[in-house]
Amino acid sequence: MVEVVSESLPPYLRGLNPPQLDAVRTLDGPLLVLAGAGTGKTRVLTTRIAHLLVQRKAFPGQVLAVTFTNKAAAQMRERVASIIGETAEGMWLGTFHALAARILRRHAELAGLKSNFTILDQDDQIRLIKQLLQAEGIDDKRWPARVVHGVIERWKDRGLTPQRVTAESASEVANGRAVEIYAMYQERLKTLNAVDFGDLLLHTLTIFQNDASVLAEYHRKFKYILVDEYQDTNVAQYLWLRILAQGHRNICCVGDDDQSIYGWRGAEVGNILRFEQDFPGAKVVRLEQNYRSTEHILSAASSLIAHNRGRLGKTLWTADKGGEKVVVKPVWDGEEEARFVGEEIEAHQRAKVPLSQIAVLVRAGFQTREFEERFVTLGLPYRVVGGPRFYERQEIRDAIAYLRVTVQQDDDLAFERIVNTPKRGLGDAALRIVRGLASARRISLYAASQEIIGTDELKPAPRRSLTRLVEDFARWRAGLETIGHADLVRTILDESGYTAMWQMDKSAEAPGRLENLKELVAAIEEFDTLPAFLEHVSLVMESVEKASDEMASLMTLHAAKGLEFDVVFLPGWEEGLFPHPRALDEKGEEGLEEERRLAHVGLTRARKHAYVTFAANRRIYNTWQSSIPSRFVAELPASDVDVKAETGLWGSGPDFAEDPFARNPRSFGRTRAPLLEGKATRLGERAAPDFVPGMRVFHEKFGYGRVVAAEAGKLEIEFEHTGPKKVMDSFVRKA
Ligand code: ATP
Ligand code: MG
Repeated sequence: MVEVVSESLPPYLRGLNPPQLDAVRTLDGPLLVLAGAGTGKTRVLTTRIAHLLVQRKAFPGQVLAVTFTNKAAAQMRERVASIIGETAEGMWLGTFHALAARILRRHAELAGLKSNFTILDQDDQIRLIKQLLQAEGIDDKRWPARVVHGVIERWKDRGLTPQRVTAESASEVANGRAVEIYAMYQERLKTLNAVDFGDLLLHTLTIFQNDASVLAEYHRKFKYILVDEYQDTNVAQYLWLRILAQGHRNICCVGDDDQSIYGWRGAEVGNILRFEQDFPGAKVVRLEQNYRSTEHILSAASSLIAHNRGRLGKTLWTADKGGEKVVVKPVWDGEEEARFVGEEIEAHQRAKVPLSQIAVLVRAGFQTREFEERFVTLGLPYRVVGGPRFYERQEIRDAIAYLRVTVQQDDDLAFERIVNTPKRGLGDAALRIVRGLASARRISLYAASQEIIGTDELKPAPRRSLTRLVEDFARWRAGLETIGHADLVRTILDESGYTAMWQMDKSAEAPGRLENLKELVAAIEEFDTLPAFLEHVSLVMESVEKASDEMASLMTLHAAKGLEFDVVFLPGWEEGLFPHPRALDEKGEEGLEEERRLAHVGLTRARKHAYVTFAANRRIYNTWQSSIPSRFVAELPASDVDVKAETGLWGSGPDFAEDPFARNPRSFGRTRAPLLEGKATRLGERAAPDFVPGMRVFHEKFGYGRVVAAEAGKLEIEFEHTGPKKVMDSFVRKA
């Protein structure tokens, strides 16, 4: 039957399996393709667009296709063009934001805007809210602008204009005046002829709701609507799609409930379940053949996700039998993890795997740092996808600017960067005076500041601020001689108010920035002095590779959605990192399931090789912390994994999966200390002896030393090379 059909098919439809073909050729009416990773959903969507155009069901300008990223849109455009043999000019293909912006430009006046409106970035949005809070006399210590901004953003995600926010969801935020502030904020934006990201959707949605003729125009225009990654749409996006699709009902959404990973940004996986209610008679197509991954990888991913309760459930199979098992590799610490990954990448390179087919997918942004350092050392070209490289991130640059001024007070670029970050009332007016003196006397800004604070050139408030800053730097500089440099960095970040600035920040990115700052301190500890570290950073920053296709990719799991690579590394599968504690704290079991979906997304990115690694020790600030493998490791079936432990480490194969520590770390609750020691001991295959003061010992990192004091698992040791340190006794053996 299938054979007969395929004879008469145009080339671009050949090779599709029957349900895929069905989905591609069901052009009219609502269609939901609900299917697992790598089953060809995106391919179906792309082929469907081509088919619409080839069949002359629509002109390019009548197709509205939504993708999750701009990059995905570019790829889809290319694929469609390669099928139809010409570029489909005029297609409305892009992200929700891009498409909505395009519509809003055409009807800006209906939203009280001019068509050349500005799209404000987050900093500007927050600044605006801050002004409003001040004008209204709302204490911004108690209700920081960032918090109020976050609340407004979430309302917008849910499609709520100020008029629609219900009283109870407004709660006590901003002294119960959050809705008022929201309304004022919208008014201010209008006066500025500006919008924020949420407005792009919200304004167009409001226009569609209020202006029947405009809506009718778009109903006529967009004959076909297609949506990729539907499981991650939020309510506003959902409403936007629904109203646009109501005209002709030709809407095709593809998604996978097991890959919904943006709940923390307002995505509602329930949108998939609602589809059939909103579009009665919708056709639902399920795809079960996975074309991406080999058997063990797929089976490992499927078993993992089967631990989730809140899912529709599906079976996936692949014709690609056999292949490599998922490599599970315990490592000593992050450094060894990066070294291992580097070596494996080089081995794949020798086996002619292009670097563009290799990716390292991390749970948290800070994790890229150790890999970046390793790749730079190896001369291995890499790109960080979806964000800047570690040392280029805003918070890292800011922190480093503080350190640069501490070490070298004439570093004007660094000084300018942080003189008013966090805000300390040293704005343009004050700076102009400092700059004036600096250039007149040909001295640095810092030196000029030292002079100016002894005068009345500045108004009292900025003068006090600048005095304090100059004194701070003087003190920190003295600290270079007296305190350990890592401690000093922590002190600088705390005393300058820089850490606090991000702690107050309630945006989705803030916790990640704080993690990056901690990672920075960990990085600094690897160097003997602060200047040595700064030197290293300039060298790393300099080695930015020329753009080329041949680069390995480093990115977060979130950014990897929809992508595929021959070789995928999944580092840091440890409790306390993945599942991420924040997800568990904020959303409990639901949070855990979202984390598990993320793990599943990670594994299913791999075509041929997947590696899961976890470190026994992570350096968090000054101390080493033992970690235990993520519960997700134990959820991988023994028959699909290949545990690459050196003899004596962990044992191998099924034993490993049976390991009671690995199996259910949760059952040991939060007081893990004794367990950790047991674990670390086992990992190193040695029993912790009783340490007594005076004993000569050896530590993996710090080498030989003598015990000074021993207490409850912690030792104070005077190391021969690095001086006194506090360490965990499980990492120390008798010398
Ligand atoms: P994800 O859920 O990760 O977004 P997906 O369902 O969108 O995955 P695609 O990316 O469309 O899956 O397809 C996965 C891989 O399988 C791609 O390399 C694609 O070209 C290939 N593929 C899809 N369908 C077929 C088919 N019928 N024959 C051969 N290869 C296919
Ligand atoms: Mg896809």
